[in-house]
Amino acid sequence: DFIKQYAAHPHYRAPRGSQLHALSWQTEAPLRMLLNNLDAEVAEDPDRLVVYGGTGQAARNREALEKIIDCLLQLRDDQSLLVQSGKPVGIMPTHPEAPRVLIANSNLVPAWASWEHFENLKARGLMMYGQMTAGSWIYIGTQGIVQGTYETFAACGRQHFGGSLHKKLVVSGGLGGMGGAQPLAATIAGGTFLGVDIDPSRIQKRIDTRYCDRMTYEYEEAKRWALDARDKGEAISIGLVGDIGDVLERLLQDGIIPDVLTDQTSAHDPVHGYVPNGLSLQEAAELRQRNPQAYKERSLKSMARHVGFMLEMQKRGAKTFDYGNNLREFARQGGEPNAFDFKGFVPEYIRPQFCEGRGPFRWAALSGDPDDIFATDQALKELFPQNEGLHRWLEAARDRIAFQGLPSRICWLGMGERQQAGLLFNEMVRDGRLKAPLVIGRDHLDCGSVASPNRETEGMLDGSDAVSDWPLLNLMSNTAGGATWVSFHHGGGVGIGYSQHAGMVVLADGSERAANCLKRVLHIDPAMGVIRHADAGYVRAKEWGERFELLV
Ligand code: NAD
Repeated sequence: DFIKQYAAHPHYRAPRGSQLHALSWQTEAPLRMLLNNLDAEVAEDPDRLVVYGGTGQAARNREALEKIIDCLLQLRDDQSLLVQSGKPVGIMPTHPEAPRVLIANSNLVPAWASWEHFENLKARGLMMYGQMTAGSWIYIGTQGIVQGTYETFAACGRQHFGGSLHKKLVVSGGLGGMGGAQPLAATIAGGTFLGVDIDPSRIQKRIDTRYCDRMTYEYEEAKRWALDARDKGEAISIGLVGDIGDVLERLLQDGIIPDVLTDQTSAHDPVHGYVPNGLSLQEAAELRQRNPQAYKERSLKSMARHVGFMLEMQKRGAKTFDYGNNLREFARQGGEPNAFDFKGFVPEYIRPQFCEGRGPFRWAALSGDPDDIFATDQALKELFPQNEGLHRWLEAARDRIAFQGLPSRICWLGMGERQQAGLLFNEMVRDGRLKAPLVIGRDHLDCGSVASPNRETEGMLDGSDAVSDWPLLNLMSNTAGGATWVSFHHGGGVGIGYSQHAGMVVLADGSERAANCLKRVLHIDPAMGVIRHADAGYVRAKEWGERFELLV
């Protein structure tokens, strides 16, 4: 009956309200979040159990999904369910403060860690790609990417422009699935945004969802709007249809240097993603089909040209950074020897925050009631009255971001703050200010939970980019601390072979048990970030480590 009501293929929906279906909130919570990941409002392709990020799945196949649901409905609070790449494989006797679910997704012994080997296993039904929050049941839709992008732009404003991006022009390429968050994030950070995409339908989608304000096919019109808005200090966003390389070339010819310059075209895939200069969308599709090798060569050359213009703008003062799409590497292959002269966004803007244990803290209301999230927004503002960036984000999120699936919220909090917030939320459940429990989790892209040398751990001070002891220590300490479910994955974000990362979610159901677990886990998790960065030699992390007495 439960499956018929909440998981009838492919119509998944988490139960709402305060009535339990499982034996306790400890098992009801993962059950609701698993189904929420697959809700059509949240997931890209529920039919294939794909949540986001290419092929990131919540369960290995339909049979495994039903079995997980079945296990969670019966699991006791002194037991833990084991999930191996999206399939339940056993139940262990544990204890009430231990995690209820232990998840391992897509892990391979390093010498076998290639897409080819993985795909072979997947085809034989033996594995699943878990991405980061897909297979660990804490994906919350596009709010996550908007917030992460906002953090990057806001940090850029603080670092270079004395506060916000007010009266600054931000230019970028690519307004697709994730890049489409840029116009909204840049305007929340106070800037004027000009985004260029070769595909008008991608820009139109951002206009329809109110992520982008205006759209044009005309360079001159876009330029006029952008300069006018920048000079007046209007935080508006403009989508221009065109090739990003061509637009940068024209801006240079016109002597217009953006204040901030980055890129989110799908450069990570030179054949199925980036569209080479000089081709229409249709011509690109034909060439891709007819001669993928020729396509790739044109693509690499175009990226070299594109990065060449970025380097020129950087020389003339634009704050220029790579946004995690591997553009620099392919530009280098395409013939631009200086492609790595600008840095990636993590060393530039995010790492200083990682050193303070800051990262993408998120929570979801199991009641399904948006008022529960609005109440937590308000409570957080009162808890951190001085944090202007947080206030600006919470207000913008409330006004401009629609909930997808169970109402949820994300904001970046650091060492100390996460624990305070979690304990406050637990109080709010206990005294009835919230209608049902919350779950608190985070992305795997966090301060102390990931090893990913082309992204989160690029250019570590001591060269320890590829050391994955850290995410394993994160997993083990969150397990020992009593997270409600924990996960260890391979290949998220940048693909098989390139990353290893850990996830955790912890329940706030108002109980004393939850308070104990929250207190430990929300200390441990950001502390791992501080310790990892202090060990690598970052001064800021050492200071924070001493302040919170974390270092040995
Ligand atoms: P996507 O495929 O949905 O969108 C890419 C867009 O780029 C498309 O709309 C396409 O039309 C456009 N494009 C391609 N070639 C172009 C050209 N020459 N000129 C102008 N537009 C062009 O991809 P996405 O999900 O938006 O992600 C974009 C990239 O950013 C990916 O490489 C992704 O991995 C990366 N990314 C990284 C992070 C991170 O590191 N945190 C976050 C978000 C995105």
